Amino acid sequence: MLPPFWPARPGAIGLQAQHMYVAFTANPGFGLTLWRTAAIACYILFLKCSELPGRIGPGNSCRHEIEEAVIVAMKQMQTPTQATPVPVTHVQAQEKTSETDAPINVAAPGMRKVFVKTYGCQMNVYDSERMSDALFKDGYQKTDNPEDADLLLLNTCHIREKAAEKVYSELGRIRQLKEALAEQGRELMVGVAGCVAQAEGQEIIRRAPIVDVVIGPQTYHRLPQAIARARQGEKVVDTDYAVEDKFEHLPTADKKTITSRGVSAFLTVQEGCDKFCTFCVVPYTRGSEVSRSVQQIEREAQSLVDAGVREITLLGQNVNAWHGHGADGREWGLGELLRLLSDIDGLERLRYTTSHPRDMDESLIDAHRDLDKVMPYLHLPVQAGSDRVLKAMNRRHTAQDYLRLIERIRAARPDIALSGDFIVGFPGETDADFEETIQLVEKVRYAQAFSFKYSPRPGTPGAERDDHVPEDIKAKRLERLQKLLRQHQVEFAENCIGKTIDLLLEKPGREPGQLIGRSPWLQPVIVDAKPSQIGDIIKVRITRTGTNSLYADCV
Ligand code: SF4
Repeated sequence: MLPPFWPARPGAIGLQAQHMYVAFTANPGFGLTLWRTAAIACYILFLKCSELPGRIGPGNSCRHEIEEAVIVAMKQMQTPTQATPVPVTHVQAQEKTSETDAPINVAAPGMRKVFVKTYGCQMNVYDSERMSDALFKDGYQKTDNPEDADLLLLNTCHIREKAAEKVYSELGRIRQLKEALAEQGRELMVGVAGCVAQAEGQEIIRRAPIVDVVIGPQTYHRLPQAIARARQGEKVVDTDYAVEDKFEHLPTADKKTITSRGVSAFLTVQEGCDKFCTFCVVPYTRGSEVSRSVQQIEREAQSLVDAGVREITLLGQNVNAWHGHGADGREWGLGELLRLLSDIDGLERLRYTTSHPRDMDESLIDAHRDLDKVMPYLHLPVQAGSDRVLKAMNRRHTAQDYLRLIERIRAARPDIALSGDFIVGFPGETDADFEETIQLVEKVRYAQAFSFKYSPRPGTPGAERDDHVPEDIKAKRLERLQKLLRQHQVEFAENCIGKTIDLLLEKPGREPGQLIGRSPWLQPVIVDAKPSQIGDIIKVRITRTGTNSLYADCV
């Protein structure tokens, strides 16, 4: 039961607080300690204050203290210790009392087809693959045609502006498909997964009753059971922060499936974020930072390599915050993990994304210097060049900190290609602030970058500010920034002409006889080669640049 002051439509922050509140209070077996109760109380206070503009502002130390308390409480929920009885989550509690909680009757092999539409980042691509793997084990086959599907799954992203509204529009189109198929006597089940599912929860069922299953990023290992319950007529919403480790419950793909996905693979090593940048919804939709164990990661990497994968990109919302217990008994960071993985025979290339400047430690920088398999490419977002704006964004570093870090990284690996993210027009950004962003870009000279106009995300502190920058000013600043970033990207590409590089051949090109590979700096490179060479790393000489790619000859 929710407390009486609970808002009817609490938004992303409120939903997460609600999950915590329910998980703690609905479970009598979960012993509440004083400090945990205090942490939750703080979080509820945080929620209430967040919904009252001007009461607690970004950078306010009270807010940081609350965040820290919440992080500790959430970690405790996600990592039960021996002294802590394992809490039964909200959904598990429902399952125990549900009349429909009969043994799950899964589909017979080969009987059903699933169409998965993925929005957003590489982490969602990876999640979609793992959800598909779980469904394949239940007899589902993949289809690329939604009209052939028995199950249509949207794996959503909450980063983009009006993300939820776009999902509701998509669901409107799916409703027409579902009705058309129903007229043919076919049933189409609809599932919504990912960050919009996490943020909207039950609201999705209310606004789009055609949806049968809503499942959050932390519980997608329960997808087959959720679908089985939905087939029995239940509307299933499972957006809890699961206590069990979902990766332990997910089946690994078979060799054939891995091979069909290509020679370059993603591997999620870390999820969630504790940084609470004031423009970002990730800490609310993906929860607190959690690292997978060294053993799990090593096992998955080895199975990818056994199936022919040559390059692995380690993923995490804040990947360089990864940490774990190493085989030597010490606490490892991402640098040590890269060292371990680089010893796997047959694995030729390692990358990782996305990193936070605060978590680039010495060991990780040394890994770039020492390990040939770690590619000379680093995506290290800075977002803005003005300390005033960085503080308002709660980035927890200054422009000088960032520039000094870049110097250390370049000293360790001089040929490294740097990539970044930028937000222009954050509330309160002045012309002078923007000039500092331009100056930082001039100093770093990125090989690649992603830049956007600031747009408010409901539930985040930035959205509540009253000093938003007018759209026309944001547009002008973005145009100028992108022109400069593009100029640097072109210069970097042109500097590659004449160089002989190692190219990992990944897939067929557009023209017959062409293959596309990736340079060490992540640029697509087009070369004449045979399909049988996919997976090979060959020497090529770069001959010219295209719009977004390079052309090369074999040497
Ligand atoms: S570090 Fe990245 S994921 Fe975390 S809050 Fe900031 S922008 Fe979002």
